[in-house]
Amino acid sequence: MAKIQMKTPLVEMDGDEMTRILWQDIKDILLTPYVDLKTEYYDLGLPERDRTGDQVTVDAAEATKKYGVAVKCATITPNGQRMEEYKLHEMWKSPNGTIRAILDGTVFRAPVMVKGISPVVKNWKKPITIARHAYGDVYKATEFRVPGPGRAELVYHGEDGAQMCQTIYDFECAGVLQGQYNKDSSIRSFARSCFQYAVDTRQDLWFSTKDTISKKYDHTFKDIFQEIYDGEYRARFEELGLTYFYTLIDDAVARVIRSQGGYIWACKNYDGDVMSDMVSTAFGSLAMMTSVLVSPDGKYEYEAAHGTVTRHYYRHRKGEKTSTNPVATIFAWTGALNKRGELDGLEDLQSFAQALERATIAVIEGGTMTQDLAGLWEGEVPAKTVDSRAFLQAIAAELDKRL
Ligand code: NAP
Ligand code: MG
Repeated sequence: MAKIQMKTPLVEMDGDEMTRILWQDIKDILLTPYVDLKTEYYDLGLPERDRTGDQVTVDAAEATKKYGVAVKCATITPNGQRMEEYKLHEMWKSPNGTIRAILDGTVFRAPVMVKGISPVVKNWKKPITIARHAYGDVYKATEFRVPGPGRAELVYHGEDGAQMCQTIYDFECAGVLQGQYNKDSSIRSFARSCFQYAVDTRQDLWFSTKDTISKKYDHTFKDIFQEIYDGEYRARFEELGLTYFYTLIDDAVARVIRSQGGYIWACKNYDGDVMSDMVSTAFGSLAMMTSVLVSPDGKYEYEAAHGTVTRHYYRHRKGEKTSTNPVATIFAWTGALNKRGELDGLEDLQSFAQALERATIAVIEGGTMTQDLAGLWEGEVPAKTVDSRAFLQAIAAELDKRL
């Protein structure tokens, strides 16, 4: 069979540890036999980041801006212990943070669902995608302990000489104080990425804050979302039959639990941090969570939500076979190939990506899976646990039947 051709290269960002091993196996077993894979390769593995002074991460992000679609392997974010282990010159920043800052993007996380592994919340039938505004608020706050009685004020000095000052509280005892901020430009980018991704994936968009209590801060988020919806997206949403729905965060939580899923839930930074862990845990395994970074001008970087699975890697290095789940990494590739196909008008590339996703799900639903899933399995046939490579080979066999 002739291999499927590509036009524009994908930006390929390699990574670390167990996911780096899976990365190569996925390419060898599931991609290159079928697709004449065109990628611009960037090695974001920690040794190469260290050798290039992290320039390779910046170059990869710039390439994503240029080509529009990237696929990324999980990477180590260095800490003290990694400094030792890899003899690093510097404690390099998280590559995801660097790439996100350059693309000004928002991260969307969604689970891959299979029959036989049911969410803890029994009425969830479709994935819930969480979009987190990863900028500002409490994550960039200034705070201190107030030592004793005294007045706390919120003060702003405009560059033009304007002054604003309000009393926060007249402390009669010791306490705590915090100042937070966000920027209209960042909220706008967040809103655009959310509306864009809703249109892309044909899903409704929910957005929630606490604007009844936070009448200026959270209300600004609400207003900016509404302004961008009305000005740039309403017509497209109506044409596609999609809904933009704003509600209070506490009402949203109640509705999410009662819902069937199948929408995007956009959250402020803290809400997104907390809710994404709750939602992903309730859906099952972290190894089934996909993640895509979307910039406001429609650039995409696909990856798995999990890390480099260090514990499995240490076992792999001792020569043991591991049963590490490659599903989220496979779906990062299929997401990127499908998007590339869509942008370049390559229907056979899109069909391939979709067939690979269906084959992956079919193998699990047929009872063959990695160890992490076997523990969650409630299917009728007993689970057959296999190592990573045997799992990839089972998917290839299923794919061959379908192509
Ligand atoms: P992790 O790699 O996500 O793994 C945590 C645990 O979750 C694993 O030990 C494993 O549990 C389970 N797990 C995760 N993915 C799995 C998979 N595909 N198949 C089977 N089990 C899976 O998180 P971590 O151990 O906290 O972090 C390891 C490294 O990854 C760190 O250096 C961190 O900086 C990096 N990291 C990178 C990213 C990213 O690039 N996006 C995100 C998070 C973390 P068992 O050991 O019990 O089997
Ligand atoms: Mg968290």
